[in-house]
Amino acid sequence: MANSMMDQDILRVLHSEEEIHARVQELGSQIYEEFKDRNPLFVGVLKGCFLFMADIIRACQIKSEIEFIAVSSYGNARESSGNVQITRDLGHDITGRDLIVVEDILDSGNTLYFLTQYFMTKGAASVTIVTLFDKPERREKPIKADYVGFQVPNEFIVGYGLDYRQQYRNLPYVGVLKPEIYE
Ligand code: 5GP
Ligand code: MG
Repeated sequence: MANSMMDQDILRVLHSEEEIHARVQELGSQIYEEFKDRNPLFVGVLKGCFLFMADIIRACQIKSEIEFIAVSSYGNARESSGNVQITRDLGHDITGRDLIVVEDILDSGNTLYFLTQYFMTKGAASVTIVTLFDKPERREKPIKADYVGFQVPNEFIVGYGLDYRQQYRNLPYVGVLKPEIYE
């Protein structure tokens, strides 16, 4: 693989490409078992979800549809503001649908708390949350994911879709950024 200078900015790798792949296959099987007799709508939360979304839907071969929603709460900072705004709305009517919300990381819970309420207001029959990463100790809102890939420590991570200032999303693994990058 063509390698860039990005690796130099990583303090340590938390989960390798192989580990992520294996865990996504497991999650896909579990979700398959729960939803195989239904016709769920996968809703990815942009942009961080895009690689995880692509992998989880292929790891879960059920008749389903996909949608995306984009929210902003961060700007370019490393902490969410709690003020979540929809910057790109769903293109589907979700009335009566079983939603599987696909998120990169659950941190304060502000984003998914807001989105769960939004989807229920829009008439969703159910909302199931799938997050690849979870930082439970950071929670500010009462929200719990139904499926979690990995619990991660309270550190800022990048890669496999997750960014710092829109960069590092294309790293195939997930790692902790060197503090000097954002200091
Ligand atoms: P929450 O609303 O739960 O605080 O934050 C959720 C969003 O914050 C995630 O979808 C993600 O975009 C961003 N986020 C939270 N923690 C991290 C992190 O460690 N690294 C990156 N790159 N984004 C994070
Ligand atoms: Mg996100």
